Amino acid sequence: MYDVIVIGAGPAGMTAALYASRSNLKVLLIERGAPGGQMNNTAEVENYPGFTSIMGPELAYKMYEGVNQFGTVNAYGIVEEIIDHGTTKTVVCEDQSYEGKAVIIATGCVHRKLGVPGEDEFAGRGVSYCAVCDGAFFKGKHLFVIGGGDSAVEEGIYLTQFASKVTVVHRRDELRAQKIIQERAFANPKMEFYWNTVLEEITGDEIKVQGVQLKNVQTGEVTAESADGVFIYVGLDPLTEPFRKLGITNAQGWIETDQEMETKIPGIYAIGDVREKTLRQITTAVGEGGIAGQQVYQYLQELA
Ligand code: FAD
Ligand code: NAP
Repeated sequence: MYDVIVIGAGPAGMTAALYASRSNLKVLLIERGAPGGQMNNTAEVENYPGFTSIMGPELAYKMYEGVNQFGTVNAYGIVEEIIDHGTTKTVVCEDQSYEGKAVIIATGCVHRKLGVPGEDEFAGRGVSYCAVCDGAFFKGKHLFVIGGGDSAVEEGIYLTQFASKVTVVHRRDELRAQKIIQERAFANPKMEFYWNTVLEEITGDEIKVQGVQLKNVQTGEVTAESADGVFIYVGLDPLTEPFRKLGITNAQGWIETDQEMETKIPGIYAIGDVREKTLRQITTAVGEGGIAGQQVYQYLQELA
């Protein structure tokens, strides 16, 4: 029986495990992949205090080193369900179940797909969602980046170190990205912007992407352009499917909590990107991890 089971080893879950284990709680941290979460797919992080600039995977590694110093037990597993028995909970993975007195959900979210023809067909053959992972394959190539948020613009800038040109395709005439990121992108000679434009189709041959079909949403004009790669950054979807039965998610699938990170089920907490909130960042994930790690201690004290 664990005191607390943390699901997801991104910055939120790792911080919750650190706080809870440092309070002498018996902590299990379950992760389905490499520890670090979305940080593993992030090029440069410039807004995490303590570092003027650090690569996402390096920050992930540094956090993970710290997590294990107070006895957190790590397990690999894909969580499929949480069963609430009141003062105890069962966390069900594909091939094993774990018992805990409290659970902290920190499963984050994933990139959203566009759903255009060619997207699935050319995934891994010119279509990518991760500049850090795939950017280096496109030296001297012309890339298209779809989206106008922080991810699209920041990762687009990152791609210019490899690509000959990066064309950002945005459906409106104004970016959503933070102003400082916009300014950098506008000043970068390798970047260009197609406004009021959507991607309609990704085309290619049996080997890889060869082109894109674009539509101007104001004029209705459709154009075909040659392309070597397409990076898609059109937002995020919560990873909450395993928790839907608990009734703690809203209509869009994000988990709702109070300001102590507790859901409406006593002893079940949610932190980081998976929560309904406005600012999805490493700093906020870490902050919420600290709150939940501490709150769970209080909860267990009251339970005893
Ligand atoms: P995540 O990082 O998503 O981690 C969740 C973890 O849960 C993952 O490891 C996942 O494998 C695991 N998991 C999910 N489901 C299950 C399951 N069923 N069973 C077991 N494990 C599961 N933020 C910044 O502050 N600065 C930046 O510069 C920045 N750049 C970004 C660039 C990109 C391209 C992206 C996509 C995001 C960026 N962000 C940035 C946002 C930041 O990465 C996130 O806000 C942060 O990682 C959220 O942390 P988290 O722990 O809540 O979730
Ligand atoms: P986002 O902020 O939701 O932006 C998604 C972008 O994709 C928007 O510009 C949106 O257009 C566009 N889009 C959505 N659906 C589309 C569709 N069907 N067709 C065409 N375009 C579409 O997502 P994000 O950029 O991935 O950022 C997610 C979170 O991570 C944010 O909270 C962000 O601040 C954070 N993040 C932070 C940093 C950083 O701090 N440096 C870096 C990356 C990410 P509209 O603008 O028209 O809606």
